[in-house]
Amino acid sequence: MPPLRNPIRELPDLLISQIAAGEVVERPACVVRELLDNAIDAGATQIDVRLAAGGVRRIIVEDDGCGIPQEELPLAFRRHATSKIASLSDLESVGTLGFRGEALAAVSSIAQCLITSRAVGQSMAYVLDAATGVLQPAARAQGTTIDVQELFFSTPARRKFLKSTATELAHCIESLRRHALAHPEVGFALWHDGKLVEQFPRLGEGTHADLPAFEERIAHVLGAEFVEQSVWIDPPANAVPGVRVWGRAGLEDAGRARSDRQYCYVNGRYVRDRVIAHALRSAYQDVLHEQRKPVHTLYVEIDPQRVDFNVHPTKIEVRFREGQAVYGAVRHAVEDALRCAHPTARAATVVAMHRGLDTPLPPNSAPAQPTPPSAPMQRRVVYDTQQHFDAVGIAHGVEALQKLWSPAPSPAAVGSPQQSDSGQSDMGEQPSTTQPLGFALAQLHGVYILAQNTLGLVIVDMHAAHERIVYEQLKQQWGALRVDGTQTDACPRLPVQRLLIPASFAASPIELATAQTHEHTLSALGMEVGQISARSLAIRAVPSALAQGDVVALARDVLADLAEFDASTALERGHQRLLATMACHGAVRAHRNLGIDEMNALLRTMEQTDRAHVCNHGRPTWKQLTMQDLDAMLLRGR
Ligand code: ADP
Ligand code: MG
Repeated sequence: MPPLRNPIRELPDLLISQIAAGEVVERPACVVRELLDNAIDAGATQIDVRLAAGGVRRIIVEDDGCGIPQEELPLAFRRHATSKIASLSDLESVGTLGFRGEALAAVSSIAQCLITSRAVGQSMAYVLDAATGVLQPAARAQGTTIDVQELFFSTPARRKFLKSTATELAHCIESLRRHALAHPEVGFALWHDGKLVEQFPRLGEGTHADLPAFEERIAHVLGAEFVEQSVWIDPPANAVPGVRVWGRAGLEDAGRARSDRQYCYVNGRYVRDRVIAHALRSAYQDVLHEQRKPVHTLYVEIDPQRVDFNVHPTKIEVRFREGQAVYGAVRHAVEDALRCAHPTARAATVVAMHRGLDTPLPPNSAPAQPTPPSAPMQRRVVYDTQQHFDAVGIAHGVEALQKLWSPAPSPAAVGSPQQSDSGQSDMGEQPSTTQPLGFALAQLHGVYILAQNTLGLVIVDMHAAHERIVYEQLKQQWGALRVDGTQTDACPRLPVQRLLIPASFAASPIELATAQTHEHTLSALGMEVGQISARSLAIRAVPSALAQGDVVALARDVLADLAEFDASTALERGHQRLLATMACHGAVRAHRNLGIDEMNALLRTMEQTDRAHVCNHGRPTWKQLTMQDLDAMLLRGR
């Protein structure tokens, strides 16, 4: 018997919309998202959201945008009816959040909808009942109100998937926050069962030129602590032609256990995109502990022709025509921002703040400025340091590090800290704010360096800090190799120190095999490890930066890392991890006694090292205790 089969037929319009609603409207928050999109597209400056029972019972969104003329109101609920595009070329360069003409049709197919609107220049408002099609005069100022009741009343199966009222409300609030973070030029408020639960006043222009408005909105939505624990991402306008990236990147203190505070926007639209996510992961990879998730707000502006938003019904996914350019733009912008967060910049900002030169948040009344007050301060300091760094060169860093390894401090070092500082001669003409980490006082139980700066006490984890310094140095040498890959040497490699007496050690079969398969990789890393018997390996050379440490332990760890890689791709895929492993061995161990000048050398090198505020595993390398902190701790003056 042939299988039972029905004839092909066209589905009724209502059913088509209900199918579409399945994709677009998963829960009340999706309706909120679509209605907020529409209000923003209509140029609203104030949007009020009122919810009942987590939005399941009722969602009302009210705006003061351009409104919809009476004669067009019936079209608003029709499928594929939109005022935002008219042709394929419009589709290829959409500048609005909506364009598919589906949202209102979908929502009205699964809920009872009323729309009240008064268009610009019209003397009357009209209200339309989507279910009956009845259009009547109404009273309202310019703008639109959409009233959605009993979501999923006609599709009870869907209703069963909804979570508790509190959960649905939380999703609605999240939807509002996503819009709020991208549109400081719009005021938002949200009421639940008659109670005001979120309110963000309208600020500024909402363009990149108005970063203070963004900063204030970000502080409202994510909290002032986030602003304190984050830095501006704001590369020069033409860093990558055609792609503008800005935002705020959270530092390690802002890191979270969950990735629930990562806000990315493309042309003002909240998106989840793999290219951007990957770029962010790469930028954060060695400044944040791998179990911590960064917090950030990232805004990407790109020519609408170069991005396709018509990928997913909810428009949360995008496709970039040149993904690589976007990847590069985001990665470098965020990397540079995080690099600028090194101690010099941060402590100098803190110092300036304490002097009243700077405030973390501009007051409401502050006139609009092209960049936020804290940004130029940070950047100026960074560039000064950069110039200084360029002038003194890497040699200074290397010299300071070698001093760190020198067996005994010179007797002259034990005088006043100012005179004994080895970096002083280079920086002596600069005010003390350029030595933000201050001067060493003592070493605590062989683990911490205690230093005094203008603000109070600085506590440095010496191993963690030195490990970062060595790591950055290795990365820099490595980068230099790759950049001018033109050298005559057939196989570029890190600067090498040959050992006078090779260090041999008993090796496991895996270590023996790894040393053989990865010979070239080891050589590129500056290591020569050869087999000398059936069961042992000998180390003949190590990177010069690491020659002082325990070379056997170094070789063992590098071999253990390498064993996990495929020989042909080990360097491409694993060099950062390998360099990090090596850096750990190059770093001064805890419980080694350091002289005052060695400690000062470490502080000065930290100030000149990118990312020196976090160790290679993302833990902080130093903390400031201000005099106020200490006074409070000891109840002084109370
Ligand atoms: P889309 O946003 O994709 O165009 P929608 O179904 O969301 O589709 O909306 C259909 C049309 O209704 C829009 O193109 C717009 O012209 C009009 N519209 C919807 N909401 C509003 C609003 N709040 N203010 C002004 N016009 C609106
Ligand atoms: Mg829409």
